[in-house]
Amino acid sequence: MSMKLMTGKDYVLSLKEYNPDIQVKGKKVKSVADEPLFKPGINAIAVTYELAHQKKHQDIMLATLEDGTKVNRLNALDFSTDDLLKKLEMTRLICKWTGCGQRYLMHDALGALAEITATMDADKNTDYFSVFKDYLLHVQKHDLTCATAVTDAKGDRSKRPHEQADPNLYVHVVEKNQKGIIVRGAKANITGAPYVHEFIVLPTRAMQKEDVDYAVSFAVPVDAPGLKIIAKPAGRPEDTEAPFSSNFGQSTALVIFNDVFIPWDRVFLCGEWEYAGKLAEAFANHHRHSCIGARAGLGDMIIGASALMAEYNGLPHTDVPHIRRSMGELIRITEGFYATGVAASVYGHKTVAGNFVPDSVQSNIGKLMLAEQVYDIFRIAHEISGGIVATAPTPEDIAIPEAGELIDRYLVGKHGVTAEERIKMARFIEDLTASKEGGFYSIISLHGGGSPEAMRMSAVRNYDFESQKEHILHKLACFAKLEGTCKGCETCVNDELCEQECESAIAIEDH
Ligand SMILES: Cc1cc2nc3c(=O)[nH]c(=O)nc-3n(C[C@H](O)[C@H](O)[C@H](O)COP(=O)(O)OP(=O)(O)OC[C@H]3O[C@@H](n4cnc5c(N)ncnc54)[C@H](O)[C@@H]3O)c2cc1C
Repeated sequence: MSMKLMTGKDYVLSLKEYNPDIQVKGKKVKSVADEPLFKPGINAIAVTYELAHQKKHQDIMLATLEDGTKVNRLNALDFSTDDLLKKLEMTRLICKWTGCGQRYLMHDALGALAEITATMDADKNTDYFSVFKDYLLHVQKHDLTCATAVTDAKGDRSKRPHEQADPNLYVHVVEKNQKGIIVRGAKANITGAPYVHEFIVLPTRAMQKEDVDYAVSFAVPVDAPGLKIIAKPAGRPEDTEAPFSSNFGQSTALVIFNDVFIPWDRVFLCGEWEYAGKLAEAFANHHRHSCIGARAGLGDMIIGASALMAEYNGLPHTDVPHIRRSMGELIRITEGFYATGVAASVYGHKTVAGNFVPDSVQSNIGKLMLAEQVYDIFRIAHEISGGIVATAPTPEDIAIPEAGELIDRYLVGKHGVTAEERIKMARFIEDLTASKEGGFYSIISLHGGGSPEAMRMSAVRNYDFESQKEHILHKLACFAKLEGTCKGCETCVNDELCEQECESAIAIEDH
């Protein structure tokens, strides 16, 4: 099968083939590809295409299909723990360039859909897996970018979908016919929505029988009739004080489905309410794993910029103990949560669909760590760099010759480092950590992929408490045997294992 590997330019041009209904900052967007307010977001996605053409990155950016064809790894399933590791490295690489490459959400949605559609077919004799596989081929053939729309508008968070005062606060099926389904409702906070080719829509939570109409998953082109996107600008477009986020950023949007038709060959779940939560959780597992790589990429940028700023200030970490300690903290945090991503990959397992999924306890705990520790990363970068991160003079003032000369004279760093270089670095750090965009990175780290409580709940739900409890009961039984108070097998959970435990405990005692 011939597969397309688009370049960044091809991707931007491909957006012209769509005509979505989008508004941003109060105006209707005529051409997404030419909209300056989306440029940083489009640039970021273009990087995901460009990196796939660079020889030195192809081992992690490309995946090989069964017939030997290469596709962008973002559009492929993971078939081994090695694939999971490469996906983690890929998200780190992409986000080290772009802050957030956005496109990895679709990789995570595809992985979840493969597993859950195959599970449903096995359990209920449905035919969703073949629909999914056709869709996967379509995505791979055209090298598409899809946004993943999971988070519903939700309304009153204490109520289930069917209990909401307005039934449209969660996306749901309002009509079914021979050709397909019609859906209504809204998804909120959707990354990259204005400049993707299609949406993959998944349920956001577990459902009950009464929520049957809300148990729905499908794919739909961005310009399907009835689909409206109310978007925010991506990054800080055209802001002269934003060296990073005027180039790379991320738009998010409220996506409204106003009676949108979805043909059956794009429907992955429709009414099987028992599987809605499984699909949401499967996506969350893949996605939290990706978030670990993504935020490690952000950590990498902040470590590099902080090290340079310390040098510009004349206080390199090689010479100054407290700067060394702070740099050590930045590394501990970044590599610490990244290591959970590596563990989640290594302990990943195969699903009924044949694809691999990360270990969910490790991926949830890693995402929880980064969600909370991103604030520490920012604080430490600020401590290392100094107040200039917030106070660097504006480019307009620097441009006035008299003021520019004074700034050059008084804001220099160590001998040989100009004020311009120091200000540039300070602005870069401000942009990533202390600006509107810096706040965005905190909140995407905290809430993107689910709020911290969702991670705690998933980790607790998937943790093997039983084997830990059993182990303690064995230990207590063994101690009893050593003390001569053992009541035999009555206190043992598993006779054979207890026997072994007791023998080894006695051997240790004898030794
Ligand atoms: C920058 C950014 C990008 C994002 N991109 C995407 C995307 O591309 N696709 C997508 O689908 N989603 C996306 N999200 C959404 C993200 O997954 C959600 O923000 C997250 O799941 C939290 O949901 P919420 O924002 O509705 O917050 P809420 O659910 O309102 O959470 C607020 C607080 O209420 C608590 N809470 C919520 N419900 C309950 C309850 N029933 N009982 C007790 N406590 C509760 C939460 O734990 C949290 O502490 C993005 C979010 C951000 C910030």
